Amino acid sequence: MPNIILLGPPGAGKGTQAKRLEDDRGMVQLSTGDMLRAAKTSGTEMGRLVANVMDRGQLVTDEIVIGLIEERLTAGDGRGFIFDGFPRTLAQADALARLMDRTGQTLDAVIEMRVDDEVLVARITGRYTCGNCGAVYHDTTKPTAKAGVCDVCGSTDLRRRGDDTEDALKTRLMEYYKKTSPLIGYYYAKGQLTSVDGLAEMDAVSSAIAKVLDRG
Ligand code: ADP
Ligand code: ZN
Repeated sequence: MPNIILLGPPGAGKGTQAKRLEDDRGMVQLSTGDMLRAAKTSGTEMGRLVANVMDRGQLVTDEIVIGLIEERLTAGDGRGFIFDGFPRTLAQADALARLMDRTGQTLDAVIEMRVDDEVLVARITGRYTCGNCGAVYHDTTKPTAKAGVCDVCGSTDLRRRGDDTEDALKTRLMEYYKKTSPLIGYYYAKGQLTSVDGLAEMDAVSSAIAKVLDRG
């Protein structure tokens, strides 16, 4: 399986598609957002350091996220990595190139998920997830069948992210356009970019991504 980056603004659906690729193809999702939230929850020193920055919607330092990726990016076993939410700056993109090189791996494709800002706001400010199984819900478009109980696993541990507020989202979008969107031009120039329509049905987005993975 190839190693790919999913690129796109917050709420584009990167996490959803990454989880599907794990289930369908046995690929390995590397989400710096998930790693940082795990550090926050477990109360490590690094977690305490990044908590406020994340809740405001700002990017944490390159040094921290590059360190997290470095820890996880062992020589690949061929399953294929999905980088989700990383890289988010040009410095992170350079670091990733070096790490892949050092571990004898290649970056095979960068998939940009395109969406409109209005959709992002609607998607994100209603979102909640199951703390037990990771299922994702939405107040208006996909509520749980029984209020407060996860459809999939029955857990009552439903959570909202600290940065899924309108204020933090404004900052997250600004950070994205300022610091992350230049990566689109960067990977385009390297001939590695494919853009897919992130506004399409989830299954249609999955098949668009599958096409990129299967083109060999
Ligand atoms: P989303 O894509 O929905 O904004 P993520 O879960 O990818 O969510 O990231 C949540 C937050 O974690 C970001 O707003 C940022 O504070 C931090 N973060 C995650 N990945 C990175 C990264 N590569 N560089 C800097 N900060 C990051
Ligand atoms: Zn659940």
